[in-house]
Amino acid sequence: GKLGIALVGLGSYAGGQLAPALSETSNCFLAGIVTGTPEKAETWKTKYGIPASNIYDYKNFDQIKNNPDIDIVYVVLPNSMHAEYVIRAAQAGKHVICEKPMAITVDDCDKMIAACKKADRILGVGYRLHYDPYHLEMMRLGQQKIHGNIKSMSAGFAFNAHKGQWRLDKAMAGGGPLMDLGIYCVQAFCYVTGQTPLSVTAKEGPKTDPERFATVEQSLTWQFEMPGGIKAEGFSSYADSRNTLKVEAERGAYELTPAFNYGGIRGKGPDGNLSFPAVNQQALQMDDFALSLIRKRPVRLPGEMGKRDVAYLQAIYQAMRSGQKVMLK
Ligand code: NAD
Repeated sequence: GKLGIALVGLGSYAGGQLAPALSETSNCFLAGIVTGTPEKAETWKTKYGIPASNIYDYKNFDQIKNNPDIDIVYVVLPNSMHAEYVIRAAQAGKHVICEKPMAITVDDCDKMIAACKKADRILGVGYRLHYDPYHLEMMRLGQQKIHGNIKSMSAGFAFNAHKGQWRLDKAMAGGGPLMDLGIYCVQAFCYVTGQTPLSVTAKEGPKTDPERFATVEQSLTWQFEMPGGIKAEGFSSYADSRNTLKVEAERGAYELTPAFNYGGIRGKGPDGNLSFPAVNQQALQMDDFALSLIRKRPVRLPGEMGKRDVAYLQAIYQAMRSGQKVMLK
C-alpha cells in the first residue's frame, strides 16, 4: 500500500504545494498533520479527510511513534526548526523528508544525519527541481557535454520579501536570501556540471532598506570556481526580481528563464526552445522518496547532500565576511 506522510508546519508551502501534490501521488498519501494552530487542524481535517487520531501538535508530536499510519514525517517549518523536528521524527521511528535548507548550521546537519542513522531511518531533502524535466534536461546537456564543455554559468534567484516574516530574521532563517533562494543556484551549479565547487569568493550587495535587512543580507553575489576552469556566478536578493539559470558551453548557450518555479519553466538552447510537459514536481519528489523506501534502495536526495549544500552556504558567508577566497574541500 501507499506510505503515510505527516506534514509538520502547515504554512504556505505545505498548504499551497505539498498537500495538493499528495492527492496526485501513487506511493504515498497525506495521512497526518502536525500543527500548533487548532483552527488549522480543523480546516485540514475536513479538507483532506484526516482522522483525528493522526493530528498532532508540537507538544504531543513524539507520540507519533505509536502511530502505524505514519511512515514518513515531512518537516516544512522555518529553517532553524528543521533540526529539532527531524531528530524527534527519527527518534519516533519515522523516515524523514526535510525542506531546504536542511538546517542553518553544518553541525545541526551532522546531528540530523546521526539521529536518522542511529534510528535506522532514511533522511531526504525536498529538492523538487531534480524531478522537473527542464532541470533534468539541463543536467543532461551539462553532464553529457551535449554542446561541449561548459565555460561559465550564472544563476540568479530573487524576489521581494515583505517585512515581518521569519525569512528576514537571522535566528529563524540562518541568513537571508542566500539560505532561501541562493541555495537553488548552488544546487544548479552542482547538478548541471555534475561537479562540486573548488573555491568561492563573495560580496554582499548594498542595504538600501537597512531596517528590513537588520539581521540578514539584502543581496549577495558569489563566484564558484568549478573543476575544468568553469566559473559559476550566483546572485540572490530579497529586494529584486530574478529567476534564471544560464550556461555558456563551447558550442552554444542554454538557459532556463524562469528557472526555479513550481511550474511554467521556460528554456532555450542553441537549437531553439526547449519544451517539456508540465509535471507536479512535489508529487514526483515525494513518490520517488516513498518508492525508494518501498524498494529499499538509496534515496536520490539524501541528508548528506543537504549537509553539503549548507556547508557551501556557510562558505559563501565566510567569503563574504572576510573578502577572501575560501577553499572548499
Ligand atoms: P511559512 O511561514 O509559510 O510556514 C511556516 C510554518 O511553520 C507556519 O505554518 C508556521 O505557523 C509554522 N511555525 C511553527 N512554529 C513557528 C515559529 N516558531 N515561527 C514561525 N513559524 C512557525 O513558510 P514556508 O514558505 O512554508 O516555508 C517553510 C519551509 O519550507 C522553509 O524551510 C522553506 O525554506 C521551505 N520551502 C521550500 C520550498 C520549495 O520549493 N522546496 C518552497 C517554500 C518553502
